[in-house]
Amino acid sequence: MTPVPLDPAPRHTLALVIPVFNEEAVVPLLLAEIAAFRAMRPDITQVVFVDDGSEDATVRLLQEGTAGQSGYWIVGFSRNFGHQLAITAGLGVVDADAAVILDADLQDPLHVVDEMVVRWREGYDVVYAIRSRRDGEPAYKRLAAATFYRLFRWIADLDMPLDTGDFRLVSRKVIDVYNKIGEQQPFVRGIVSWVGFNQIGIPYVRAARAAGSSKYTLGKLMKLALSGLTSFSDKPLRISIRLGIGVAVLAVLGLLLAFGLALAGGGGITLSAALIFVGFFFGGVQFLFLGVVGIYLLRVYEAVKGRPRYIVDSHWRSDG
Ligand code: UDP
Ligand code: MG
Repeated sequence: MTPVPLDPAPRHTLALVIPVFNEEAVVPLLLAEIAAFRAMRPDITQVVFVDDGSEDATVRLLQEGTAGQSGYWIVGFSRNFGHQLAITAGLGVVDADAAVILDADLQDPLHVVDEMVVRWREGYDVVYAIRSRRDGEPAYKRLAAATFYRLFRWIADLDMPLDTGDFRLVSRKVIDVYNKIGEQQPFVRGIVSWVGFNQIGIPYVRAARAAGSSKYTLGKLMKLALSGLTSFSDKPLRISIRLGIGVAVLAVLGLLLAFGLALAGGGGITLSAALIFVGFFFGGVQFLFLGVVGIYLLRVYEAVKGRPRYIVDSHWRSDG
């Protein structure tokens, strides 16, 4: 069923939002692809690159490759703030009726944007791309991603579609809502899913990186996964309470058992040895959940500090 747009918001012009971090190897290819694509799609009136603190020739190549052409913007961060905040800053300056978020490395093929626009014009406000296959990614990364999305589905209080990244089209309505949210560590795909409106997915084959190497270190991936889980669920805290109650009940039973054995006059030594390990085990569990509580507390702490989420150092436009 095709939803009819109820809002009279125009659905004409389109922006691309592309975070870049040390992507000098891929920038020339990327610019060539975008130029060819824009020749067929004059409705793309703006291309926003967010430079997430690159230390290579990324920015120079972007400027040289687009100077004098229309609609290229570069928002420059003062340092590396991370992919999710780069997207956030990009959405903050979008000056079009919708935006498509994509990676710089051409893993998100531009031809999929055509399909997204068709769906958007039908009335959808979010058109997300589902990775039906992933080429050229190491097995550990595919496994980690598959595990994360399933864990997320179990833990989070949000029905986020599986196997999607940030490659998606968002309408002006969604952008305006997103820009007001202001979470310190935004998990973009989660928030976009959470806002509601008409959403639809389209499958695509995720290509291999066109050039350069992945900028997502294991540490950055873990941080992303944690911010996703903790910003959309309090289940880990609730699990800790249930576990605590379970352990207390077990401890009472164990105590009764130990008394029974002592009264019967046997097994005293092995039982105390076993109890030491039980003690260690639950010591570990306590530390684990202390950490879980700490993570939530940290998020409150960050919010209370209220520092800017990112710092923009420069704005550049290709048409002066
Ligand atoms: N990126 C970024 N800041 C970072 C890491 C990555 O802006 O700290 C950008 C990167 O330039 C690329 C996109 O985010 O456009 C996705 O990164 P990458 O392709 O390295 O991740 P992968 O596809 O390997 O998960
Ligand atoms: Mg990539």
